Amino acid sequence: MKISIIGSGYVGTITAACFADVGHEVICVDIDEKKVQQINAGIPSIYEEGLEELLKKYVGKRLIATTDNELAVFNTDISFICVGTPSEVGGSINLSIVRSATESIGSALAKKNGYHVVVVKSTVIPETTEKFVLPILEEKSGKVAGKDFGIAMNPEFLREGKAIYDFMHPDKIVVGSIDASSEDLVSELYLNFECEITRTNPKTAEMIKYANNSFLATKISLSNEIGNICKKMGIDTYDVMKAVGKDSRISPLFLNSGAGFGGSCFPKDVRALISKAKEIGYSPTILESVLAVNENQPLMMAELLQKKIGEFKDKKIAVLGLAFKNDTDDIRESRAIPLITELLRLGAKVSAYDPLAAENMRRVFPTVRYHKSAKEALKGADACLVVTEWEEFKKLDSEFEVMKNRIVIDGRRVIKAKSIDYEGLCW
Ligand code: NAD
Repeated sequence: MKISIIGSGYVGTITAACFADVGHEVICVDIDEKKVQQINAGIPSIYEEGLEELLKKYVGKRLIATTDNELAVFNTDISFICVGTPSEVGGSINLSIVRSATESIGSALAKKNGYHVVVVKSTVIPETTEKFVLPILEEKSGKVAGKDFGIAMNPEFLREGKAIYDFMHPDKIVVGSIDASSEDLVSELYLNFECEITRTNPKTAEMIKYANNSFLATKISLSNEIGNICKKMGIDTYDVMKAVGKDSRISPLFLNSGAGFGGSCFPKDVRALISKAKEIGYSPTILESVLAVNENQPLMMAELLQKKIGEFKDKKIAVLGLAFKNDTDDIRESRAIPLITELLRLGAKVSAYDPLAAENMRRVFPTVRYHKSAKEALKGADACLVVTEWEEFKKLDSEFEVMKNRIVIDGRRVIKAKSIDYEGLCW
């Protein structure tokens, strides 16, 4: 089938590369000329394992990128909206990017003959597809939804760092449509995926995504809370949660306590659901607590360190790990951000290392010193804080010898070195 992807960021590029890999013809659209040029040169604008190989394989064959929205809509049967839905100050999602992408598709549809389906893949609050996207498309195209064009909502569940694998081997595919024609066309795209398709209406599809992320975020914050209690009682929370995870109703995943969750989805999506719940007159106590625990976890690392070294003023503190998780260069809502903010506020000099994310973090904290290796960042440091679960941190050992004081607070239970003054965040 012929697909256009409107918004070629994280989700858009992965979706485009994977659909090309299963045989579809794909046109990527972005307003960012540089991204378009990069994709056409086979270079992804984000790091994701396997993505560059896929782009190089299909660019110019069955994948191209353009800034020309009309060209993309005219030459495809389905358009996916994959633009960002950032948080507003109060937590609700900002739909201005979805609006402008939808307006462009609607204007192109006005000039296109034949049936076309528009699919929302961006994470949007229930009812957005039908009450926001649909009317804009009808207004701009002068056409009627369900007759002249179709609409569906197809949320994305990929994990950054494992995005290609997750897209190709999904646990679930959800297609929420306004009618059978849209549903059938979108479902056809996933014909060769070994996964049952959940067919539903758009607002249920939208809510499935929020419920899913809220559940996972809750699992993490609950594990962190159990970890905080365990630490005070001298119980190893990892032993506890390993046994808890053997319960088939719970599963062993997302039970590692530590510095908390970040990324472009969990914090934003939980905030958005809280905001919507309040708007409709419900007070979401559990979801608010999930965020409160998550905000406090990185600050507890600073508190633990203060107990060991006293005031931070002019002390050199090495922060290992800046990405919100391992295997990505994405720093959005990384737990390193509130932690470094606190260290700087208290007068520390921060030296940092991350295998992939340093350049992105430089834009947030230009005064932090970024290094090319953990050892360089650790040199002469009064203490070290470990924030991201990078595989290479598990092998660190003699590198700690260059520190002034070998004090290490581990926020992810990754450090295995022996001859250090080690303390785990929740263990
Ligand atoms: P992103 O910011 O990485 O990418 C969005 C892209 O859209 C950018 O390249 C931007 O230049 C482009 N864009 C903006 N306005 C445009 C327009 N009018 N026309 C065409 N392109 C335009 O965002 P992302 O991380 O890919 O997230 C996209 C959506 O998917 C969000 O709603 C997010 O919540 C959801 N989501 C993200 C993930 C994830 O892991 N990143 C996972 C599941 C769902």
